[in-house]
Amino acid sequence: MLADTKTKRTLVIGALGQIGSELIAELTRRYGNDSVVATDIRLPEQKTDFTFLKLDVLDKQALYQVISDYNIGTLYNLAAILSAKGEQQPQLAWEINMKSLLNTLEAARELSLEKVFWPSSIAVFGPSTPRVNTPQHCEMDPSTVYGISKLAGERWCAYYAQKYGVDVRSLRYPGLISYKTLPGGGTTDYAVEIFHEAVKARHYTSFLGENTALPMMYMPDAIRATLSLMDAPVEAVKVRSSYNLAGISFTPAILAAEIQKHIPLFSCDYKPDFRQAIAESWPQSIDDRESTADWGWKPEFDLESMAHDMLLHIREFYTEKV
Ligand code: NAD
Repeated sequence: MLADTKTKRTLVIGALGQIGSELIAELTRRYGNDSVVATDIRLPEQKTDFTFLKLDVLDKQALYQVISDYNIGTLYNLAAILSAKGEQQPQLAWEINMKSLLNTLEAARELSLEKVFWPSSIAVFGPSTPRVNTPQHCEMDPSTVYGISKLAGERWCAYYAQKYGVDVRSLRYPGLISYKTLPGGGTTDYAVEIFHEAVKARHYTSFLGENTALPMMYMPDAIRATLSLMDAPVEAVKVRSSYNLAGISFTPAILAAEIQKHIPLFSCDYKPDFRQAIAESWPQSIDDRESTADWGWKPEFDLESMAHDMLLHIREFYTEKV
């Protein structure tokens, strides 16, 4: 379906991923199926009620064509190679993470898009960063190619905002926990896998050590934060690199204990792998006061309510499959 020229639509790139699939659901719920164009490098397994196109964001010409054909006003670029996968293929992670961002920033500049969202990550921080209540502005020396690409990406966002007036907005997501789609190869994936294994097998072997605290967030909070930032008036968005964003901080042992309250027979053991070193270079908790002050951020889910909701949905999922 091609553009009707009146309504500007929203383009989501990387729409089949952990965040994209939930962002699309909320965007279509709020603004209607016709308001959204979902794209990914692969096609969904099932037919969708909204437009879904196959698009490789590295193909600049194809990206520009979709923007023009579908009268796109706002763009969310979620395509990336995440932290753990990136360490297996550093050159590819750099290529995809940087080129996809630069293509969308250039599209925003040349085709005068209204707004762009691009996520950064707590991976921008590194061993020299203060690890507790990590401030918005501090020393940043990321040790993964993923973190290096996110830090460089933040600087590109600030550059395009300052030099060309592109309205690009960004959040440093913590590890995201969700039940609809499995995570895509990050260091915080254990916090999703543990729920699936608790329900299926009553046992989980964590690839992070039991006392490794990391900042996390339940997906409904992450989607709400994203849309709140995108809805904020332009003058309220003062940080044009990327905003710190905090939800819940916990260790694998604390999460396992929370799950045991619901599934007493659940047990967890710990066999740290290469992801342990990545986790140890990241913050344990985040100071997000600038997000609160500038656009009113406040998380809704704590550990108890997140775990309760996750188990409810994951139990439903496996009951339906039987
Ligand atoms: P994901 O891996 O689940 O999804 C990424 C999607 O991008 C996939 O569906 C993939 O097919 C698609 N993709 C890959 N290459 C593409 C290309 N060339 N063209 C078009 N699509 C392509 O990732 P996610 O967890 O949904 O993360 C989305 C964004 O949020 C990423 O930028 C990621 O770095 C960031 N982020 C995620 C988390 C998290 O915990 N999930 C935390 C911090 C930041």
